[in-house]
Amino acid sequence: MQLKCERLLSSNVWLNKQTLTIEHDKIISIRPTIENDAHLPLYKGSFVPGFIDVQVNGGGGVLFNQQPSVAALTQMSQAHLRFGSTGLMPTLITDELPVMRQAAQAIADAVSQNTAGILGVHFEGPHLSKPKKGVHDASFIRPLSDDELALYLRKDLGKVIVTVAPENVAPDIITLMSENGIKVCLGHSNADADTVLKAIEAGADGFTHLFNAMSAMQSRAPGMVGVALNTPKTYAGLILDHYHIDPICSEIAIKIKGIDKIMLVTDAMGLIGTDDDSFMFGEQKITRIGNKLTTDNGTLAGSHLDMLSAVKHAVNDLKLPLEDAIAMASTTPANYLGLRASHGDIAVGQQADLVLLDDDLNITALWQSGQSIIIT
Ligand SMILES: [Zn+2]
Repeated sequence: MQLKCERLLSSNVWLNKQTLTIEHDKIISIRPTIENDAHLPLYKGSFVPGFIDVQVNGGGGVLFNQQPSVAALTQMSQAHLRFGSTGLMPTLITDELPVMRQAAQAIADAVSQNTAGILGVHFEGPHLSKPKKGVHDASFIRPLSDDELALYLRKDLGKVIVTVAPENVAPDIITLMSENGIKVCLGHSNADADTVLKAIEAGADGFTHLFNAMSAMQSRAPGMVGVALNTPKTYAGLILDHYHIDPICSEIAIKIKGIDKIMLVTDAMGLIGTDDDSFMFGEQKITRIGNKLTTDNGTLAGSHLDMLSAVKHAVNDLKLPLEDAIAMASTTPANYLGLRASHGDIAVGQQADLVLLDDDLNITALWQSGQSIIIT
């Protein structure tokens, strides 16, 4: 298949008038358009790499915790695909062990069946800090036992992220996990800077929804936020919906850490891709007003953000160049996951995950693994 493009973003550089060749699921060549391409239709707009969301709890009416199955993962993946996300790390919020096991098995099945868009799994908890639990059920928050460790160490889950509070998980366990390929992120934590630094030394290399549900930066207590901003090698997820973080704080984070370390995430709940305005999460009713989700007592409960909107916020509100927004939505999360050889770019050898944007940043065409996707 050949695609004649007005312009495309390759390794963060815009190339005009290019023709892409895709074979099976891969890009096999990119070259300037020539006269012989006259028969090909011209795709107007900007081709950018498909987005990768490392924190996504649900979509299309399902929440992974409530339906840990391959069917639910497929539904989530399709719901987010409409918004340009061609790769997801479905995220399981703090839950009891049997649900975690079901979720892991669903991921293993999805990965072995090559379910489109499922890159692995993100366990957000349960080894968190109760004072910073957010919407997580405190009764499920617990230290890490051999049972959970065995789950995380499974080799059939694709990529694995585990978000922990470092005051609840010892550095030697973090080292064991990271040496076994697990990405350890820090979050939902009240830890002081010293504890956070020790966790990073032990192998943790990311922060989950920077600024939210973590010890704040104060003059004499840098907290988790201070360490996240002051450790250049670490990555951080950012929920760019302007509800979770004031745009000023988002700008500060991007200025300090750079687009190669900030990852746009949605933290989306199941309502994405539906018109519903409430759902039950355990005993708690979560209500959507506009694009904000809260419990009855006003606690933010995940988001109603899709990745395309996050990209638009970065460009329209933070005034970032489109290529920088795309880096944070695609290239940087691919890098973080160790998938950069195959994902996060439009380049020869990459999986053909392509999003075509018009001048208003709306999606006009989409390919996932080389397959054209009809957007409804
Ligand atoms: Zn969270």
